[in-house]
Amino acid sequence: MIIVLKQDSSEEQAAQVLESLGRLGLSATALPTSQNMLIAVLDDVRQLPSHLFSQLPFVERTIRVQPQSTLALKGAPLTLSFKNKIQIGNGQRPVVIAGPCSVEGQAQILHLAYKVKESGASMLRGGAYKPRTSPYDFQGLGKEGLKYLSEARQATGLPVVSEVMSAEQIEQAEPFIDMFQIGARNMYNYELLKEVGRSSRPVLLKRAMSATVAELLNAAEYIMLAGNLHVILCERGIRTFETCTRNTLDLGAVAALKSMTELPVIVDPSHATGRRDLVAPMARAAIACGADGLLIEVHDQPLQALSDGEQAVTSCQLKDII
Ligand code: PEP
Ligand code: MN
Repeated sequence: MIIVLKQDSSEEQAAQVLESLGRLGLSATALPTSQNMLIAVLDDVRQLPSHLFSQLPFVERTIRVQPQSTLALKGAPLTLSFKNKIQIGNGQRPVVIAGPCSVEGQAQILHLAYKVKESGASMLRGGAYKPRTSPYDFQGLGKEGLKYLSEARQATGLPVVSEVMSAEQIEQAEPFIDMFQIGARNMYNYELLKEVGRSSRPVLLKRAMSATVAELLNAAEYIMLAGNLHVILCERGIRTFETCTRNTLDLGAVAALKSMTELPVIVDPSHATGRRDLVAPMARAAIACGADGLLIEVHDQPLQALSDGEQAVTSCQLKDII
């Protein structure tokens, strides 16, 4: 950390700051410049709150040199092994994770699993526990849905990803799925992040609708600090003043993330736009700006879908997109 002292601070004042830091057990050194006196703290202060420094006498401001999300800013590409090896990130061919918003029944998920595989997807998605805005909407089939997902997984050889919202759901889902999804609504649920962090399954972490890139990286840091380094970041649109799409797809954040971390970054054009007709162009745009893959909602009878039917593409359309 660099502590900038107020303009025209004297060497005696700098010495007082050094003394206060010494009482906190920290070593530091004064760096006089033509404008301000700077104090460089030499120890790792990531665990210490900023006010310990900013409220010392003579201090104008503090600058943290070390980023707070050090694990997430390093990151690593991911290899998933089920029947085939799937590599995500690091310039590999983009992965497509596809399937319905919700698992609605045994026949539906099995049919779509075969269809998305045939279309070229390499992972199956399907929600068993659904975070719905209205408590009156379909809430998912729960454990029964997980069972159907795992049958579809066995039948097609596609690894599966499904959302969990509580510690109890993590425990229930773990034997049935290959990757946990943490949805946008739970990106800030730090206890849940720590809980998936204690698992060995990779985690698909979606950006919350109002999260900054730094907050998304901090959420990844929670998972990684708990021991699970296998995280995929997912941009799924943020909430803005625009109403013609469900959310606003922030591809600038995707390009920025790709320049900051080696963690795989994928894009969900389905939730980002909420419109079937916009999924294909936004999928192309996502890959063009460097995304490592796509998460796409698919349904073959979208009018009958129990959730997110307006944004579901058919398996034929998925094939064209891929
Ligand atoms: C979903 O993937 O179906 C979902 C609910 O996504 P999000 O958390 O991005 O809204
Ligand atoms: Mn959905």
